[in-house]
Amino acid sequence: MVFELIGTGGRESSCAGTGLRGAGKEALGLFAGLLIGTAGVTAATGSARANGNYTHLWVAQDAVQHVENAELQELLAAPEWYEAMRNGANFPDGGYAVGDGYGEMGHWEPFQTLYLEWIRDTYGPPWSDEGKRHVAFLLGMAAHGLTDQLFDGMYLERHYVFDENSTGGEWGNVDGVTDICFAAAMGPMQPPETWVPADVMAELFAEAGHEVTPQTIEMGQSLVAVAVMYTDDKRTDEATLDKYMELYPWACGHVDDPTVPGSPISLGPPVARYMEVLWGRLHGNDGFDQPLLGAWFSKGMPYEQPRDAGTPDSWVSFAMPRGLDKGSLTDESVTVVGPGGSAHPVTLQLYYGNDSHLVNIRPKEDWAKEADYTVTLSAPLATWNGLALEGTRTFEFSTGAAPAIGDVRGSDDDGDAAGEGNSAVGDDTAGAGNSASGCSAGGVGGMRGGSGGANLGVVLLLASLVAGAAAVGRLTRRGTPWTAKQRCASLDFSHRP
Ligand SMILES: [Zn+2]
Repeated sequence: MVFELIGTGGRESSCAGTGLRGAGKEALGLFAGLLIGTAGVTAATGSARANGNYTHLWVAQDAVQHVENAELQELLAAPEWYEAMRNGANFPDGGYAVGDGYGEMGHWEPFQTLYLEWIRDTYGPPWSDEGKRHVAFLLGMAAHGLTDQLFDGMYLERHYVFDENSTGGEWGNVDGVTDICFAAAMGPMQPPETWVPADVMAELFAEAGHEVTPQTIEMGQSLVAVAVMYTDDKRTDEATLDKYMELYPWACGHVDDPTVPGSPISLGPPVARYMEVLWGRLHGNDGFDQPLLGAWFSKGMPYEQPRDAGTPDSWVSFAMPRGLDKGSLTDESVTVVGPGGSAHPVTLQLYYGNDSHLVNIRPKEDWAKEADYTVTLSAPLATWNGLALEGTRTFEFSTGAAPAIGDVRGSDDDGDAAGEGNSAVGDDTAGAGNSASGCSAGGVGGMRGGSGGANLGVVLLLASLVAGAAAVGRLTRRGTPWTAKQRCASLDFSHRP
């Protein structure tokens, strides 16, 4: 019943759907009234934002474990600021839940930059307790926006093709379905005790040209918490899960597969990288000089890339550390060079357009057999506010087979292996390979920074283990307690203390 109701929303209001989807029990009538009363407003406010809020909380929490800056990690992991961070991760969808345009604005880097600059001007390092609370809330918000982009742009794009019943790109109920499927795989989740800097937010939205009252913002924040409770309640409902698995076997069945680009379980590391970028900005670095947030390949590694240009699995994706100016994304700023040094014809898709981070490289022709490709990014690639990328970033991928694990591991002790070990990731790229490698992503700290090649053997080993675990998990997900996530955790890679 809930889904029939929210099915009226249209693609633009998918996060409104999330809010309503959270409508459990006595709150359902309230949600329904809100949504029905405001559907026109939400439908007019922009693009789809499609993760459910259980997923948003999970990814933001996971990201904290992948943050490598010790001071930032300590701040975010401290219980009082951790809750502020979790509230920030809920925040943008509150606007959809109450049908107010602040939700859409709150997803994006331009508004988040306004808030960041306010925090920097008002507090600045060393951070007071109040300053820390705002930093944590900001990074939660940022996690939410980026998570939606990566999930929608890679995972849902595959769902539209691989699930027969999908709505083919039109918004359906897949966000709520995947939220509950993911919750079923990952376990219990309590929403944070609601806190929102409503007065500050209302002032900043006004500055950005949008009037909203603090009371509306507080209402939105409370409704999203209810949404999380609803998902948490549904995650053990076997009948619901069976129904979702039947409806969207691909989307429901891969939420915890770390080798699938954009799967919720894989998003913590790139979100952590973005938190670090913003931490740098909070300390005065407004440049466009950071590593990529991640690069993704369809086998969970930069080898054996599917060649068939007719499927989204042929796409290679990357996420930039700053939101981009769409006009700057050209065949001059992004090149994909294959065998013989010739450029391969591609479509560059800045997913969601201006201000977005995620670029899908979509080949116009099949990738060549057994071929290596190099992607190079450079100016005039620029941020939404006109900063050109400093330096170049490169990464490589191949349609050929991965080096044998034994060979690579054997080469770890060999100095020559360093370059080879990071062959998927140019030195400039630093973190670009992080997210490509399943549960090793982010857990392998040394992979970041492109320093040393000792990790590729580990990465490949894990990738193969994870691929195996995921395959088993997909087939018998309800029958086995051993999910890919647990497999990763057992290897002590995905959850660092
Ligand atoms: Zn959202």
